[in-house]
Amino acid sequence: MTMSPDRIIPTRHLFGPGPCNPYAEATAALGLPLIGHLDPEFIARMDRTNEGLRVLWGTKNARTLPLSATGSAGMEAAFVNTVQSGDVAVIAVNGLFGERMCEVASRAGAEVVRVDHEWGTPVDAERVAAAHPNPTVIAAVHAETSTGVLSDIAALGAIKGDALLITDAVTSIGGMPILADEWGIDVGYAGTQKCLGVAPGLAPFTISDRAFERRVPKPQSWYLDLGLLGGYANGAPGGQRAYHHTAPVGMVASLEAGINRILAEGLDAVTERHRSAGKALQDGLQEMGLELFAAEGYRLPQLTTVMVPEGVDSAAVRGYLLENFNIEIGAGAGEFTSTVWRIGLMGPNANPASVALLLGALKEAIA
Ligand code: PLP
Repeated sequence: MTMSPDRIIPTRHLFGPGPCNPYAEATAALGLPLIGHLDPEFIARMDRTNEGLRVLWGTKNARTLPLSATGSAGMEAAFVNTVQSGDVAVIAVNGLFGERMCEVASRAGAEVVRVDHEWGTPVDAERVAAAHPNPTVIAAVHAETSTGVLSDIAALGAIKGDALLITDAVTSIGGMPILADEWGIDVGYAGTQKCLGVAPGLAPFTISDRAFERRVPKPQSWYLDLGLLGGYANGAPGGQRAYHHTAPVGMVASLEAGINRILAEGLDAVTERHRSAGKALQDGLQEMGLELFAAEGYRLPQLTTVMVPEGVDSAAVRGYLLENFNIEIGAGAGEFTSTVWRIGLMGPNANPASVALLLGALKEAIA
């Protein structure tokens, strides 16, 4: 049987808010022979992957592992294991993913105290501190993909008091420094499809001993119960693993390859590559007369938000880029769907060639 031409998937430049194009090493690892999820080779791979994740998270947490689902499952795991009925969750909301946290925390039974910020601005730690005298958890998004804004997580760690600090690092991990232990992050979750340069499918996760000891004894989610998951990824001393669910063996191999690629380049170099590509893009957009959306001083280099110029049809431009240049960029989020574009330069896409291609193509699309 021959495949009809319209079924051939084109190679896209994934310059949207994620997924980005993966590192070649991460893609190649998907082709490795499949092995069993309790094979000693796989267990060793999981150990190495968790060790690599500890470096990227900036933590010594024993319980650091890739959860077997996307970033949103990381968010669910963070809340169902730390809050239940009667607990207070103070959540900083400065974009779509802070909003989602509120929904997830309230479904876990928490009384949610929202601290709303104007979209496009960073989280204000003082306002968060003033929101409630004794919350069970405080939560915020480090890099808000919906607005392109970076927030200071260390400032929240400084004011958290006895609360546990939950941090969304989906768009920051692998592209900028995260110092979970130093900043006071108790529970962190991320995704693979952004700056880690791996396909979507896993949620790198870390939880401190302090948070693990205070965890909800029997969370409403069996799959995301961290008490049950401990033996799956970390095992007892000597590498003994308990079956919990069938590990996504291929995705873990791909994640390990992506992490190794990043560590081989060096975290500082990877951070600088994202920083300089993002700055070049943002400078170039402004030189074209476009206005950036995120507040100056808090702009993420890996995810740029830019205002759609007056009179320009946002969706038509995105369609033009896709059709003529195989370039995907994102629409705005929430009420900014048609007034903002989101442009990601993540993982291997954070390079000068991507910037030049994007600026040239966008100029033509807008003209
Ligand atoms: N948090 C942030 C900041 C995100 O950008 C995303 C996805 O874009 C998520 C959470 C949800 O992750 P996923 O779509 O992988 O479930």
